[in-house]
Amino acid sequence: MLKILDGKAVRDARKTRLIQRIKLLKRVPTLAIIQVGDRSDTTAYVNAKKRFAADIGVEVRHIHLEENVDQDVILKNIKNLNVDETVGGIIIQLPLPEAIDRDAVINTIDPKKDTDALTKPSIDRWSKGDALTRSDLCTKVRPMYQGPTLYPATARGVGELLGFYHISLKDKKVCVIGRSALVGTPVAALCRTRGAMVTVCHSQTADLKKETLASDIIISAVGKPGLVTAAHVKPGQVVIDVGINRVEGKLIGDVDFEAVKAVLGDAGAISPVPGGVGPMTVLALFENLIDCATM
Ligand code: NAD
Repeated sequence: MLKILDGKAVRDARKTRLIQRIKLLKRVPTLAIIQVGDRSDTTAYVNAKKRFAADIGVEVRHIHLEENVDQDVILKNIKNLNVDETVGGIIIQLPLPEAIDRDAVINTIDPKKDTDALTKPSIDRWSKGDALTRSDLCTKVRPMYQGPTLYPATARGVGELLGFYHISLKDKKVCVIGRSALVGTPVAALCRTRGAMVTVCHSQTADLKKETLASDIIISAVGKPGLVTAAHVKPGQVVIDVGINRVEGKLIGDVDFEAVKAVLGDAGAISPVPGGVGPMTVLALFENLIDCATM
């Protein structure tokens, strides 16, 4: 029977394990979230994180700054959080307003508190995958290594969703659609690290269908409803829909769910939107926080 990759159910199953890990900690780390401006989607994501944190007994410090805040004020807030011992992780809710230098802001976060794994040292680590982690652990000279190799939350969430359903990435052809620094690029890096042969497609890919049809696993992270249609898939494939689009008040993904599901058949698997990668991303963020605190 076709598998529906139920992110909500997996998140709830994993939540118990996460709560047990938290109970073993001497001090539960606070997660600091910096939000700039009032975009309604951003506020919804922050609220989802706060709800999950309350559920697992983690405190969130939500710093909500005005849209036209001076960049120096953001940097000052981050520097204060860097030296605050009660704060174990700091995330910047993206996107930031255009006037703000995203890289400068993110790279002000202490890499040891980089729960979203988006500072330069974190990117260097996850883009090299296990190779760097292993050599770091095997040598006494570890100049750059501070803490665990974390992946950005969505990439980790995708990895854990596949893992839960025993869908191996080893020796699989994976087509990642989208190459953003936040989602597509780390998802591709994670798949590569786990043994997949990865093709990354983007806005300039001329023949998307050719690439998706040549894959075992398709992961779409674009933000275009109806991008992946029945014509892009074949029976037995695994389709992960990371996209989130609001259409006529409803949340939908990049994948034409019903039509694609019908083609995949009994041997296939597909993640829905909502209820697929979204809940896994929130879970993964807090797993990253606890990993930061325990390494
Ligand atoms: P982005 O706009 O930064 O990147 C989109 C990517 O899609 C780009 O690399 C672009 O080249 C590519 N693209 C655009 N048009 C394309 C086309 N026609 N064919 C192939 N590729 C194309 O967006 P993002 O931040 O990477 O987010 C992508 C989607 O994932 C959005 O819908 C976002 O809301 C969603 N998202 C979901 C979660 C989650 O937890 N489920 C988390 C983060 C982002």
